Amino acid sequence: METDYSMLVPQARAFIEREHGLRIAGETISVGSRGTIDVLDPSTNRVVARVLDAGEEQVDAAVSSARDALSGPWRAMRPYQRADALLRLAQLLERDALALSQIETINSGRLIANTRLFDVEFSVQVLRYMAGWATKIEGRTADINAPYIPDGEFFSFTTREPVGVVAGIVPWNVPLCQAVWKLAPALAAGCTLVLKPAQQTPLTALWLADLAIEAGIPPGVVNVVTGSGPGAGAALARHPGVDKISFTGSTAVGREIARHAAGSFRKVNLELGGKSPVIVFGDAKLDEAIHGAAWAIFGNHGQNCCAGSRLYVHDAIYEQVIDGVCEIAKQIRLGPGLDPKTQMGPLVSPAQQARVLSYIKDGRDAGATVRAGGMAADAAGCYVHPTVLTDVDESMKVVREEIFGPVLVAMPFGSEEDVLARANALEYGLGASVWTRDISRVHRFSRGLDAGNVWVNVHNVLDPTLPFGGYKDSGVGHDLGEESVLAHTRIKSTVIRL
Ligand code: NAP
Ligand code: MG
Repeated sequence: METDYSMLVPQARAFIEREHGLRIAGETISVGSRGTIDVLDPSTNRVVARVLDAGEEQVDAAVSSARDALSGPWRAMRPYQRADALLRLAQLLERDALALSQIETINSGRLIANTRLFDVEFSVQVLRYMAGWATKIEGRTADINAPYIPDGEFFSFTTREPVGVVAGIVPWNVPLCQAVWKLAPALAAGCTLVLKPAQQTPLTALWLADLAIEAGIPPGVVNVVTGSGPGAGAALARHPGVDKISFTGSTAVGREIARHAAGSFRKVNLELGGKSPVIVFGDAKLDEAIHGAAWAIFGNHGQNCCAGSRLYVHDAIYEQVIDGVCEIAKQIRLGPGLDPKTQMGPLVSPAQQARVLSYIKDGRDAGATVRAGGMAADAAGCYVHPTVLTDVDESMKVVREEIFGPVLVAMPFGSEEDVLARANALEYGLGASVWTRDISRVHRFSRGLDAGNVWVNVHNVLDPTLPFGGYKDSGVGHDLGEESVLAHTRIKSTVIRL
């Protein structure tokens, strides 16, 4: 179950082995005031790289660099030139796809097919989509009234300006993709960026910054500071030179950022946690629902913000669906992400493995039945067997809290009203999927769901064209879509007396 490093392409190996400085103003900065952070391969827990643990001084330099770039060459570039730059960046990601996905797999433990498809190809799609927006940010004219100046004639219009310096703070579950979700709309709108990747998975963000320079994006437009959340992350989120914080991560940290941003009137976009329900009605196509429910939670090892981590199945088909999902869970082949035969890799870190196992123990202690998995694999890395817990209810921690691992809690339901109330009972509201062939129910039920993303007969389908955001404690604002671009602008109303 250990990674075979001979599979790495030379470019990936060379990058992992080199010294990893910060990226500020187009330069590699190799002094970090807080020392270094070990980067692990979670299939072995071996240290594969070290990055700098940036402190306030480096964050300050990165924000200054982004501010300088904002009023410098970046501002002088026309919208089509920003679009061209984003398109070139997309092309460079495609060129380096294999090396990037291998690095992401080594560092995050995720399947190579997954890092290739989501971290690289999805990012390429996002960059191309957002490049299109760079030339389509428009204001409007208005025929104003101003009755208190009866003798005047006016011309008035609105303009959308870049909001300014954006702090992009991202988690480790889909690292490169999350970084691009922050970068692409910000740059399309003419903003500049300081990115703070998660300390577990900092490598591909550094590569991305190098590609931005190669793509002709002026130095200082994309800066990357590696470091810890409480260190570099907090320094960045509180920096007075930052105009907008675009954060993806846990609800607890999001709340802390929102609290500070409220005091300073900083703009925020918060993409937070979830405990998304998968609801299977009696008329669903069973094979598709079983397969869909299993991979809604086991895809990306359950480390998805909108993982389908709560399964509700109608009484009449409950046992059949649970048996089917457990059968899939038991057959999933664990191994290192680089091995193409692997169906589930290790979790991202020993801490995450310990956290997931402690939730399983908590569920067991509270009376849950373990129908599949329930333990770590007998191997050196951070593996946890795909787990299904039954005999649970909404009063239990395993049902209420986000585990962020391959742990499904499954419950039967009777009526549509009952399951809607239970689906909506938590403070989270990120995603939900409904499995049924009844078109009236599709509309009625989707309308009732407190979730920012609803899927029918499929789970977790995201696209650059669709805004992605949460209801309730799952966040504020959106990534992706037109909405995310416009949220990186500020509106100015101008009135001219003729
Ligand atoms: P996290 O602990 O909240 O960390 C997210 C990022 O914030 C990391 O870069 C982290 O740094 C940084 N951070 C931590 N404390 C900070 C602070 N006080 N100030 C500023 N930044 C700080 O989340 P995680 O454990 O990495 O990721 C899992 C969570 O992300 C889950 O809750 C998941 O649902 C959520 N998520 C949401 C979405 C979405 O779009 N809604 C997508 C993916 C993940 P370090 O980790 O380096 O210390
Ligand atoms: Mg964390």
